[in-house]
Order: sequence, then C-alpha cells, then structure tokens
Amino acid sequence: MEKIASFTVNHLNLLPGVYVSRKDHIGAETLTTFDLRMTRPNFEPVLNTAEVHTIEHLGATFLRNHPEYKEKIVYFGPMGCRTGFYLILAGDYESKDVVELIKEMYVFCRDFEGEVPGQAARDCGNYLDMNLPMAKYVSGKYVEVLENIKDNQLVYQP
Ligand SMILES: [Zn+2]
Repeated sequence: MEKIASFTVNHLNLLPGVYVSRKDHIGAETLTTFDLRMTRPNFEPVLNTAEVHTIEHLGATFLRNHPEYKEKIVYFGPMGCRTGFYLILAGDYESKDVVELIKEMYVFCRDFEGEVPGQAARDCGNYLDMNLPMAKYVSGKYVEVLENIKDNQLVYQP
C-alpha cells in the first residue's frame, strides 16, 4: 500500500504550531484539515489521554458554539500519537487564517472552570477519564506557542 501523505511529513523537524495537513475536494466544496500540534513529536512527552479527552470535549463545545465558525466545523479530535489534534473546516484556508480561532479555543480551555460539558455516563463513552487541571495546563502552554508563532510553525518544513 502507498504511504499516505501525513506519514511523509518529517516529524523530527516538526515544532508545535498550526499546519495545513491536507485539503480535500468533495464535489464543489474544499475541506481543510489542520494539524494543531501541541507538543514536539519524539522530543517532548506526549499528552496523557485524560487531558486529551478533556480538551476534546471543551474544544468541540467551543467550536460548535462559535458565532463565526460553527457552521464550518466538520470535525475536531485528537491524534492517536497524542501530540495534538486535527480540526477539519469546510472551506479553503491557510494556517494563518485560523491562528486567532485556535488561540481563542485554547484560551477557553486554559481558563475553563466548572463541569466539563458532556462529562456524564449518558453523554460520553469514558466520562471518568478526564483531567481538567492538566488540560488547562497544557492548553496554557500551547497558547504561549500561538502567541509567538513563527512562519516555520505554520507550514510543514521539509
Ligand atoms: Zn468523551
């Protein structure tokens, strides 16, 4: 089988940032998949599942309520390697177009207090596997990345 495009990215050069992972054309529509890379792969510890799961709930809630973007959100979810998330938007975008949106989302996660949306047995497949304090901590670290983001953290480097 052919190696798929996302495995051809050199993960040894990949810094935390916001990247366009791929664009898909479905009929007349373009879907843009973003790589929201929170930790440096194979250099930093990965995120634990409990904070990933918490960010998934908080991020999805934020995005699907966003006044400007809610109709364009196709998917938001974690990478299996636990170094970040994928966000799929309806439309043709570049990374710099969404840095503000992503920053807003992670500020929301960093500052969140109270009951995590959907953290109940009826609403989630593993509702006890959550860690809000760590989700807030790692979100804050990624906000710092986003506030100082450079060109090489917006486009995959060879
Ligand atoms: Zn869940």
